[in-house]
Amino acid sequence: MANVEFTNLVRQYGRTTALKSVSGVFGDGLVTCMLGPSGCGKTTLLRTIAGLEQPNSGTIRFDGTAVEHLPVSARNVGMVFQAPVVYRGLSVWDNIALPLHRARVGDSEIRKAVDEVLDLLDLGALATSVADRLNAGDRQKVAIARAVARRPRVLLLDEPLTNVSGQERAVLKRALKRLLTYRHDTVVYVTHDQSEAMTLADVMVVMQDGVIMQHGAPRDLYESPQDEFVGWFLGAPGMNFLHLANDRSEVGRRVEGLWEPDLRARIVRAGNLGSIGFRPEYVRVALNPQHGWSEGIVQHAALTTCGQILLTAQVGTTTVVAKHAGLSLLSKGHRVWMRIPSEHVHFFGPDGQRMSLEPVVADEVDPEPVGSRPIPSV
Ligand code: ATP
Repeated sequence: MANVEFTNLVRQYGRTTALKSVSGVFGDGLVTCMLGPSGCGKTTLLRTIAGLEQPNSGTIRFDGTAVEHLPVSARNVGMVFQAPVVYRGLSVWDNIALPLHRARVGDSEIRKAVDEVLDLLDLGALATSVADRLNAGDRQKVAIARAVARRPRVLLLDEPLTNVSGQERAVLKRALKRLLTYRHDTVVYVTHDQSEAMTLADVMVVMQDGVIMQHGAPRDLYESPQDEFVGWFLGAPGMNFLHLANDRSEVGRRVEGLWEPDLRARIVRAGNLGSIGFRPEYVRVALNPQHGWSEGIVQHAALTTCGQILLTAQVGTTTVVAKHAGLSLLSKGHRVWMRIPSEHVHFFGPDGQRMSLEPVVADEVDPEPVGSRPIPSV
């Protein structure tokens, strides 16, 4: 297994710059999941690491050794693509063993390696089945098993669950989790599915438009996005944002409700605040008036697959999306009372970058309880 370090990688296709000088590390023995909107450069980065794409500039090092000029075959990477690739007419066992035979690995070592991955991916019962006659989930298991059995220095997976649906997908995801947890391989995993990334990742990378926006532990990206885009992109739905105009009196008016008094004072005082972000799941919602909470009118409410209610409410001039359990009676036009706890509020500058707000001293805090005043209409 290798530590993969890439520095200032640029990849252009004509006038499109798919990678805009990206740098980072895929840590030795860690599973790194790459997320980002379609066309942001995830696959290009993966293929460049593998050697399937040549960067226009930049370096790639495996354990400190430059590999950017080496062909794919000399890098010892394992790749698994969206569509399962298996050798037709061969058994599952032979599919997995074939690259090891080609690499002239000894018979007993081959048996050991194949049996281990068959076991980890729960493929033992299918060892003698013809691989191309299996269902898509099992074929993808075979492709993964073949890629990992020869112990590549880095395993690159490009949306391996996308072509597998329903229960087969759930089974494959569980098997993959077991394999990755047991093996401690260096893995880079491209996906569009956030829950897949949250389940599998030690480290998560979010890309946008050829740039890595943030790289870190999944919880850190979710709870402390360094950029507005990351806050918006992660989550279902992502963060709410209250975008603030340059006019400071406007800021004062817009932050009238929802926030705790000390936070409101900090927001009003902040000189260069661009937006305030908060996640739907942290908005507190009540059906009856609560002291200091702001009143809103439900615009839309729907049950989610997690059994929660996802609701959109208008609170003064602010539209708030919230998630809440046990409010199944809610529908359009209902009155609700909302409060956003200060510890779950994020601040971003006009450039979208995370910022922190200075604490305020006691006499700056408006003593009047927030929400006890009528919210001004616009
Ligand atoms: P998706 O999630 O849809 O797979 P992605 O994040 O993996 O997208 P890439 O496939 O890496 O994005 O593409 C990044 C950009 O480079 C896109 O604008 C894409 O159109 C362009 N691109 C990728 N490969 C080529 C190619 N072979 N020729 C021309 N343009 C390409």
